[in-house]
Amino acid sequence: MQPNPLLSFSDLPLFDQIRPEHVAPALDTLLADADAALEQVTAADFPADWTGIARVLDTATERLGRAWNAVGHLNAVADTPELRAAYNEALPRVTEFWTRLGADERLYAKYKAIDTAALNPAQRQAHRNAMRNFVLSGAELTGADKERFAAIQERQAELAQKFSENALDATDAYAYYATEDELDGVPPDVRQAAREAAEAEDKAGFKLTLKLPMYLPIMQFARSSALRERLYRAYVTRASDQAEGDGIRFDNSALIREILALRQEEARLLGYANFGEVSVVPKMADSPAQVIGFLRDLARRARPYAEKDVADLRAFAASTLHLPDPQPWDWAYVGEQLKEQRYAFSEQEVKQYFTAPKVLAGLFKIVETLFEVTIRRDYAPVWHPTVEFYRIERAAALAGGEPQLVGQFYLDPSARSGKRGGAWMDDVRARWLRPDDGQLQTPVAQLVCNFAAGVDGKPPLLTHDDVTTLFHEFGHGLQHMLTQIDEHDVSGISGVEWDAVELPSQFMENFCWEWDVLRHMTAHVDTGEPLPRALYDKMLAGKNYQSGMQTLRQIEFSLFDMLLHTEHAPDADFMPLLRQVREEVAVLPAPAFSRTAHTFSHIFAGGYAAGYYSYKWAEVLSADAYAAFEETAGPDGLPSVETGRRYREAILESGGSRPAMESFKAFRGREPSLDALLRHQGMA
Ligand SMILES: [Zn+2]
Repeated sequence: MQPNPLLSFSDLPLFDQIRPEHVAPALDTLLADADAALEQVTAADFPADWTGIARVLDTATERLGRAWNAVGHLNAVADTPELRAAYNEALPRVTEFWTRLGADERLYAKYKAIDTAALNPAQRQAHRNAMRNFVLSGAELTGADKERFAAIQERQAELAQKFSENALDATDAYAYYATEDELDGVPPDVRQAAREAAEAEDKAGFKLTLKLPMYLPIMQFARSSALRERLYRAYVTRASDQAEGDGIRFDNSALIREILALRQEEARLLGYANFGEVSVVPKMADSPAQVIGFLRDLARRARPYAEKDVADLRAFAASTLHLPDPQPWDWAYVGEQLKEQRYAFSEQEVKQYFTAPKVLAGLFKIVETLFEVTIRRDYAPVWHPTVEFYRIERAAALAGGEPQLVGQFYLDPSARSGKRGGAWMDDVRARWLRPDDGQLQTPVAQLVCNFAAGVDGKPPLLTHDDVTTLFHEFGHGLQHMLTQIDEHDVSGISGVEWDAVELPSQFMENFCWEWDVLRHMTAHVDTGEPLPRALYDKMLAGKNYQSGMQTLRQIEFSLFDMLLHTEHAPDADFMPLLRQVREEVAVLPAPAFSRTAHTFSHIFAGGYAAGYYSYKWAEVLSADAYAAFEETAGPDGLPSVETGRRYREAILESGGSRPAMESFKAFRGREPSLDALLRHQGMA
């Protein structure tokens, strides 16, 4: 019998050999090993020693994690019905193990007994994180409180699932069959999709739905204000008491009240005043009050720009569109018309300059120069022939004579069937000074994108959005791969606070807007000419269009989320709070029937409860970090290698081994400031 490739851990995963039938038997072995390891280290006579526990337990759970990651990865990029079935069958077993491990009282007691004075700083941070996570999982609770805590978790999972289902079903249940006349202005591809949807039901006309790829272009382009109003009303009342007709059966109001009440109860059980306080414990922000202050400060500074955005829209609507008093369903349309008039350029034209090989070479060049590494093609077993594999080496001079392997990554650039959409970075394995064999394990990352394939034998052409996405994910990858921390749970992206984790990724996006970077990273697919300056200027002018309004919109969501989880009584109606926040922050009035909170899945069914602010928070960090490069750029406009070295050492190499605020201060010499973000977005 062939050995199971999922049980091979000597080097890289055997992606070319893993088959669906390997999944269940591999998990049998790995889960049994992990369970045995847990029993061994929690035995009364097992010493409470960090390295001793890691040698037995962490090595077993790391093998389980690596194998399961490989299966999850293949499920995402090379999906087949057989693999999906194997994955779904195994998922509950793996989830059950991690949940049980995280709440194991014996393990908690063992960790508690560890003498932290004997640990190095990274180990101490990993130990602090572990203790914190145990406490937040209810490990300190006993008796009835413990039972109640578990019951709350279970009920919360059910409610989140029901909330999502209602939001989805309410979206899916809606249809409006429009006539051709009503669709004046709507792009041809959207019309065609609507026509085909109606035809599939043997209906005349065009079937319009509330799904975003259809709803958005209609709100942006349909000339009929009546049609926009009809769809807008349906959209902003989804899953609420205001929904039309029998849509009311998806009303999320009661679920939201129960979710908030349970979170409040959970917070009290854990010894906190409210859920907002619980949410920030593992985050970079110190307190809900700090977050609220941050949001209000940013709102105050963005407000004049948002007001100017609205004034521009009003003037344009009155003078050009004959809309003297735009209604809530008109703003997207007015905005799109104004944008087209002011900043029109063709995405199609831009694409011709961004060929995949040239962009990739440009990205590698920046990384190599700034972070003093070399990126070279390498070999590894892969799941598809178009997947590339690379190694990152530290220059010989820095590494003491020999080029030194720092990390490796897979790049899966192209869209294809059986591959999930979007782009992401994932870890294959983390840097770790292994406690079992004493060897230094180097980090390996996945970089997955979904670029369209090239046509007529030409290389793939990327949109500017594609390029930005590639840089973003590579930023996550750099934090994972350039880390110099030897402790598994705090090396690379592990252990980095949630509200700081987008710093290195959003940081990299800035390069995609630098003229001196772009002209070296572009070459017209036919002529080889770099991006023309005039086209770049147009792109740049359009970049900050309505940034004031967009900033306030994000702040409105974030502030509502945090106030809802701190100052709001869970059993009270939350609509007055939403109205109050809108009055304080928004520049466009929302109609009384609007119920957008009822589909706010990020906070009611995702992991963003009292954490939606993280998006803006991380943007401030990344913009301020990038400003250090703007301040030190050379006369040629290229970024300073010295600044790159300091950034690499302070932010990328330290990973989660210390609080993100400490890393930021080590780089910037001070706490983050809002100035750079406002300036980058044209609000200064
Ligand atoms: Zn990201």
